[in-house]
Amino acid sequence: LVSFRQVQKSYDGDSLVVKNLNLEIRRGEFLTMLGPSGSGKTTSLMMLAGFEVPTSGEIRLDGKLLNNVPPHKRNIGMVFQNYALFPHLTIFENVAFPLKVRNEGFREIRYQVDKALEMVQLDKFAQRYPAQLSGGQQQRVALARALVFKPQLVLMDEPLGALDKQLREHMQMEIKHIHQQLGVTVVYVTHDQSEALTMSDRVAVFNNGIIQQIDKPEVLYERPANSFVANFIGENN
Ligand code: ATP
Repeated sequence: LVSFRQVQKSYDGDSLVVKNLNLEIRRGEFLTMLGPSGSGKTTSLMMLAGFEVPTSGEIRLDGKLLNNVPPHKRNIGMVFQNYALFPHLTIFENVAFPLKVRNEGFREIRYQVDKALEMVQLDKFAQRYPAQLSGGQQQRVALARALVFKPQLVLMDEPLGALDKQLREHMQMEIKHIHQQLGVTVVYVTHDQSEALTMSDRVAVFNNGIIQQIDKPEVLYERPANSFVANFIGENN
């Protein structure tokens, strides 16, 4: 579904924070970019989303070159830790936003938003404001907003980073469940090894702007490609 070909990124015109990135993301898969802080995960995701421009190389979605396509025309849903909800809009209006931008009709909006809020079990909260919800509930609204326009691809950057451990684990299961239910392709960024290993079909391990290994969780664990992967996967497990 997505291909990165020899993608490089430098912010200062000098040092590369993403180096010669080659990556094929399969339709329907849950792919996680895992790695320490500063390893280039977020930058890679931002280039796919369209918020950052590659210094060189090309990114394709469904075979189509994305380099000059603005973010809102990419049909990609996004959930970021700091991608806040609009505080002055109700939960219903927040989730309706991407549909309004796409000029959907009132009845279609009502139907799709109700369905999305049901999916994250927040249909009872439609008329509340974000500040009246817990952190976990707000993140579920962000998830509903990312999925409501039926994107073929959803990007998530540390979406559970602000939540406590118990809620985090619960939300991990919920995200997995939604992924399976909808069959949507997910690209997920985290620095948390156990989160990556439990949720993903495949994990791309980043270090210093380079993918060290990309494999199924069990393969990373049993046959790490190098000592960086072995050490990083071994931490906190
Ligand atoms: P984290 O988990 O901490 O977000 P990451 O793996 O996602 O880390 P990136 O955010 O992609 O890593 O950052 C890679 C490098 O690029 C870092 O050295 C960072 O300081 C630098 N960087 C990121 N964004 C910018 C920016 N807007 N301007 C300049 N440098 C940046």
